[in-house]
Amino acid sequence: MQKLGNYITGKWIEGDGEGQLLYNAVNGIPIVAASSEGLDFAAILQFAREKGNPALRKMTFQERGRMLRALAQHLMQHKEKFYSISYQSGATRIDSWIDIEGGIGNLFSNASLRRKLPDETFCLDGDPITLSKGNSFMGHHILVPKEGVAVHINAYNFPIWGMLEKIAVNLLAGVPAVVKPATVTSYLTEAVVREIILSKILPDGALQLICGSAGDLLSHVNSQDVVTFTGSASTGLKLKSNPTILGESVPFNMEADSLNCMVLGTDVEPGMPEWEIFIKEVKKEMTVKAGQKCTAVRRIFVPENKIEDVSNALITALENTIIGNPLNEKVRMGSLAGEGQRLEVRNQVQKLLASSQIIYGSLTDVAVIDADEKVGAFLSPILLLNNHPLTAEEPHNVEAFGPVSTIMPYKNIEEAIYLSKKGKGSLCSSIITASHKNAKEYVLGAATHHGRILVLNNECAKESTGHGSPLPLLVHGGPGRAGGGEEMGGLRGIKHYLQRTAIQGSPTMITAISNVYQPHATGNIDTIHPFKKHFEQLNIGDQIVTEKRLITSEDITRFADLSGDHFYAHLINTDFNGTMFEQQVAHGYFIMSAAAGLFVEGYEKNPVLLNYGIDELRFTKPVYPGNSIYIRFTCKEKTAQEMKEPSPDIAFVKGQDIPKGIVKWYVEIFDESDEITGVATILTMVQMKNSNVN
Ligand code: NAP
Repeated sequence: MQKLGNYITGKWIEGDGEGQLLYNAVNGIPIVAASSEGLDFAAILQFAREKGNPALRKMTFQERGRMLRALAQHLMQHKEKFYSISYQSGATRIDSWIDIEGGIGNLFSNASLRRKLPDETFCLDGDPITLSKGNSFMGHHILVPKEGVAVHINAYNFPIWGMLEKIAVNLLAGVPAVVKPATVTSYLTEAVVREIILSKILPDGALQLICGSAGDLLSHVNSQDVVTFTGSASTGLKLKSNPTILGESVPFNMEADSLNCMVLGTDVEPGMPEWEIFIKEVKKEMTVKAGQKCTAVRRIFVPENKIEDVSNALITALENTIIGNPLNEKVRMGSLAGEGQRLEVRNQVQKLLASSQIIYGSLTDVAVIDADEKVGAFLSPILLLNNHPLTAEEPHNVEAFGPVSTIMPYKNIEEAIYLSKKGKGSLCSSIITASHKNAKEYVLGAATHHGRILVLNNECAKESTGHGSPLPLLVHGGPGRAGGGEEMGGLRGIKHYLQRTAIQGSPTMITAISNVYQPHATGNIDTIHPFKKHFEQLNIGDQIVTEKRLITSEDITRFADLSGDHFYAHLINTDFNGTMFEQQVAHGYFIMSAAAGLFVEGYEKNPVLLNYGIDELRFTKPVYPGNSIYIRFTCKEKTAQEMKEPSPDIAFVKGQDIPKGIVKWYVEIFDESDEITGVATILTMVQMKNSNVN
């Protein structure tokens, strides 16, 4: 039998021996074997640390993000190849879409995150911290890529998404990966890795693949590495307690079993749109991917007076599910990933039967089309009923990783919250309700025990991404039984692969290190106005201090008339007794506009293309008629921009994008006593010198 390749130390290598046979889940025929026997696991990690890590570390976030985008585009071109393999795991086209395009979508999302990051190999975290009265000593936090490797040990259910959602994050952070998919579906992961390697988009050593056992891989990790695990709680516990992981303080992120629940609000009656939404969502969660989703609904909580109606509606919905060969277009639910998984689910259902009864489906019989249920790993959806959820333990403890859920009654939202927590921590929970009160009570009461909560009603159901979809920009993970880990979550995710270090020093020194101007750092006063400089000519810290401008009562009154902002504090005739002010005070927006009048240099065309916003604008001291203001205006941060294809929503000159970058400016507004009355960061787009558009 042909063997899968392991992509390690820059080569495709077959493991020794015959390997473990992997089967087509639909017809039971062996398709390939997997072996990692004989691999040098220490060398795999060393290769990642010595080759992949330095190559990724020296790239900036922008470069890594573009690399991810190129990878996503490349894989998208080859997606049909992956679909054609994926059905062998029992997955329908929709199941495969989640795995394949959901995974590639993760690469795209992480690629886009580069826009929130600097064009540097590192980034700052949070705000500057003042540490001294004289402003000569400050603190900040810096994030640098770890010097190790991300080791991802994945579950069998999403062999592509499981890899891509994780490597997207570590690659953006600048850390290479070793991926060990669950063996049973590793042929799909292998197919994608082959395409990734052929594309030559990633640097050598950025990605390695092990198909088969992880051997003694974990005995060679160190404190610069990160291990992530997705799978069962029992394996997770074993790996987490590995002496090397404990001894070397290796970060270990675990995503494990989860008894996710869905709650029907007490307000929802048959006939309401939310009723249909609930039935549809439960059915979807039970049958998509044949219930082999870490987020699938295992526990269904229903107000006790609606148990019968909900049971009947769900039974009718499940009866309409066509099960069989996923290649047949009529089929809505395929098989489990293999015979081993079917046996496991049956065993788990037997445990659930200690306190529940089956009200729909069967452990032995299933009607399939275009397939043979005796050789394929098919199982009917199984709906159980448990009438005593407050005392029964099984429905809250036993995870049957297949199309299996248990309906349970509850009395009021408080009880629903209590029951939801009996799962001892889950990845996600949903409440379907039209009542703001129910939703608020549930979310605030249940949040401690769930990594994500979806509140579904008629307003959002159509566009909702659903109960079961972890999203790249939202955190995925859950407390307790769900493993206590956290993945994805946009920028939050990449921080798992970056070392956060507090740095202290003078503002000028921290500016030099971080390449971001820090308040109170020494600026570079120049005779040339910074607006006359092209992007490349600007240096962080380039600074001007403007003339003074006297603010008059007439100015304030005219600004009130011009803007229509006649707030009492800006009116001359207001009685100021009992107000925050002594007399007519200038509008903050007027002061900001007057500031622009002082710092903008602009009668002639210059490289500044436009001003597109203000961040962190604060007014810290009132400006009264008779005060004079002046501005210290400093180049704070620069990020080059990529050239874009023509589109109506970006800045073009003469119909074409031009080379340019974003420049942030730190604006400090002083009064005549040199006290700060306001600060802001303004954002401009500045042309590059090599642009021929003028
Ligand atoms: P599993 O049996 O625990 O296996 C998970 C991974 O661990 C596989 O890659 C497996 O490799 C590997 N593994 C097992 N023993 C190992 C060892 N001693 N050293 C190193 N690696 C080892 O889980 P599964 O059956 O694949 O997946 C089903 C479970 O995963 C369910 O319980 C489900 O709830 C959970 N899950 C959770 C999430 C989540 O995000 N929370 C997502 C998906 C699935 P082999 O395949 O080679 O044994």
